[in-house]
Amino acid sequence: MHLILLGPPGSGKGTQAERLCKQWALPHVASGDLFRDHLKRETDLGKLARSYMDIGQLVPDDVTIAMVKERLSRSDCRGGAILDGFPRTRAQAEALDLILQELGQQLTGVLFMAVPDDVLIERLSGRRICLQCQAPYHVAFSPPRETKTCDLCGGELCQRDDDQPETIKARLDVYQQQTTPLIEFYQVANLLHEVDANMDIDQVTDALLTIIHSLQP
Ligand code: ADP
Ligand code: ADP
Ligand code: ZN
Repeated sequence: MHLILLGPPGSGKGTQAERLCKQWALPHVASGDLFRDHLKRETDLGKLARSYMDIGQLVPDDVTIAMVKERLSRSDCRGGAILDGFPRTRAQAEALDLILQELGQQLTGVLFMAVPDDVLIERLSGRRICLQCQAPYHVAFSPPRETKTCDLCGGELCQRDDDQPETIKARLDVYQQQTTPLIEFYQVANLLHEVDANMDIDQVTDALLTIIHSLQP
């Protein structure tokens, strides 16, 4: 089962992917997490990616596609994966079709997580992530048990450099311009399922689970 979580920054893709992956024992393939891992290791790709991430722009398609292709080709993705944050452009969506074709796989469905902009800003402004495992938290909506410590791995929590007001605005604009065309792209392919993601975390999980169960053969 290959699922895509499609939605604006802050719609809860990472939060929900974590839960769905546990339920189905699938790997969580998050392009943003992969880039942040490169940043931390100071690889050439990390240095390149940082120059785009810092200003809220998308990393160029060719390097992004190559990175995700390599990840999806690993053996743990043979039974599927939950994609979070990829694809974000039409070129990436077309490339993903080819990648899955080459792997003898197909897309099961695309879950589109709809949330109004004012709620997104509130969520992104209070987001904290684990430096070690990248699990997302929110100071008010999803606080850790102990301040500044990850419930899952004990890692230290921090605010992402790009979760600042100016960069948040740029990322929402980039999403509007470059990613929203994918809604129609997947609608035409009959793969799109919209979820009201402006509900409590548990309610959104339930809505996603209902849809995914209906997609299972
Ligand atoms: P969010 O969780 O807020 O949606 P991500 O962690 O997915 O943000 O992405 C952070 C940044 O990483 C993006 O602003 C962009 O610079 C880069 N990035 C992540 N995924 C992609 C992608 N599929 N294509 C291009 N750039 C990406
Ligand atoms: P994305 O991966 O789409 O950028 P995240 O999963 O990182 O989104 O969530 C963004 C922020 O909003 C995080 O701080 C997270 O704890 C919080 N959050 C996620 N889902 C909800 C929800 N349904 N209600 C309130 N806050 C949420
Ligand atoms: Zn952690």
